[in-house]
Amino acid sequence: MSDCIFCKIVAKEIPATILHEDDDVLVFMDIGPIIKGHALVISKKHYDPVTETPDDILAKLHITAKRIAAAQMNALGAGGVNIMQNNGTAAGQEVPHIHVHVIPRFKTDGHHWNWNPTAYDDFEEIAKLAEKMRNHL
Ligand code: AMP
Ligand code: ZN
Repeated sequence: MSDCIFCKIVAKEIPATILHEDDDVLVFMDIGPIIKGHALVISKKHYDPVTETPDDILAKLHITAKRIAAAQMNALGAGGVNIMQNNGTAAGQEVPHIHVHVIPRFKTDGHHWNWNPTAYDDFEEIAKLAEKMRNHL
């Protein structure tokens, strides 16, 4: 994809601070970190969204994210990590090329996700939504 910024990073047409690379994936530092040390694991081949990404590539992305998480904990002293993957502008995705965010977390980092649980009207509403989804699995 000639106009995709992450494809350009894969092609080394624009710079990135690369952490790791193999035949399938590239890992580099996110330029706008939620927390310093935030890394992105991307597929070298352009896929998007997650539902169009082959299973073996998806597995590789997440196995690599696990290695990056370990490095953030062992090398940076992170107490935990958030591993996130956005799909679609409705979900806040900005770069439409499959990528996994690996964000190191520290007890003192002061970051709070805007995670506000809501509620269902009743169990029937939950059951109806689950039924719809089950029918598409
Ligand atoms: P998303 O919202 O899931 O699509 O996330 C896209 C991420 O890519 C954001 O966290 C950006 O900070 C990051 N990003 C965009 N352009 C670059 C770049 N040239 N180098 C490194 N990270 C980038
Ligand atoms: Zn791309």
